[in-house]
Amino acid sequence: MVSFNSYREKSFLKNPLKDFREDVQEVEYRQDPLTGEWTRLNIDRAKRPHQAPSKPIKITAKKDCFFCKKHIEDKTPKFSKSVVPEGRIKSGEFVLFPNLFPFAAHHAVGVLTEKHDASLSKITAKMWADALTGTISWFKKVQAFDSRMRFASIDMNYMMPAAASVIHPHMQATVDKFPTNQTNLIYRKSWEYLDATQSNFWGELCKEDNKRKIFNSRNISWHASFAPKAANEVIGILKGKSGFFDLSVKNIEELASGLSKVFCALEKLGVRSANMALIASPLNEDLSHFFNMHVVIISRPETKELYTADRGFMEVLHRESIVSYIPEDFAKRMKKVIPDA
Ligand SMILES: [Zn+2]
Repeated sequence: MVSFNSYREKSFLKNPLKDFREDVQEVEYRQDPLTGEWTRLNIDRAKRPHQAPSKPIKITAKKDCFFCKKHIEDKTPKFSKSVVPEGRIKSGEFVLFPNLFPFAAHHAVGVLTEKHDASLSKITAKMWADALTGTISWFKKVQAFDSRMRFASIDMNYMMPAAASVIHPHMQATVDKFPTNQTNLIYRKSWEYLDATQSNFWGELCKEDNKRKIFNSRNISWHASFAPKAANEVIGILKGKSGFFDLSVKNIEELASGLSKVFCALEKLGVRSANMALIASPLNEDLSHFFNMHVVIISRPETKELYTADRGFMEVLHRESIVSYIPEDFAKRMKKVIPDA
């Protein structure tokens, strides 16, 4: 049984927006059912006044963008010959090359589409499938070059509030000797769950998390997270799969189709900036008896000149997230706008 722990506290104040009448706001504390990390929910926070309101910035095409087709060949780096003899990996419109300023032993950037200012809904299932296929083929080449490099992930920063430095839609992939803090925590907690209950947390979550389920495809279950780390958090769990090398062509197509549907739906709900992380088992290791590969997607603030960031002291220094929405309501909103098969 997965535990969905929460409790509520009332916070009293005399509200100047209501003639200093006694007012009460409710804070809900929710615990991540796997890691035990706390998140705080207050929907009234979304209504709070901002001292420096500003209009969204219009994204315009930049003539000398080095991710655009015209410049990609002469302005992006190439992999060293010993890892990728052809220099870059190409699959449909997708082009993968090394990050010019890496923060991993193996750190690649992949341009998802030839269209410079494609919105999230314009990144098609085919583009995602090409990106996943191309990136997994790179993981294989990195492994062949250095088998100590076992911890891989596929991630995305879409637009500047999500920490992208380039507008042109792209994703990133890393391969390292050690897992990230979050991946390591998830492996450890998933193992502890198996040890304590003799069952796979991820399988149980797929079965029990009905209040927040958005949609199911054949082998992937998509949910709103019970205790999200940021706004509009969606998690897609690949049943019975733990690693990138376990994915068949059909699995990749199914994941790609799910990603494109989720981003379409988020865009319909007003999302213009997002992060994504695909968390997987070490390359060449099957952990599917206690861990399932999953993708986490969150939305970030809109691109405005003077915007309020969604990471403050509580998130960054106390590692506790505050969100201004109810995940169960968000799941219902997503269900209404998710495109059909
Ligand atoms: Zn471009």
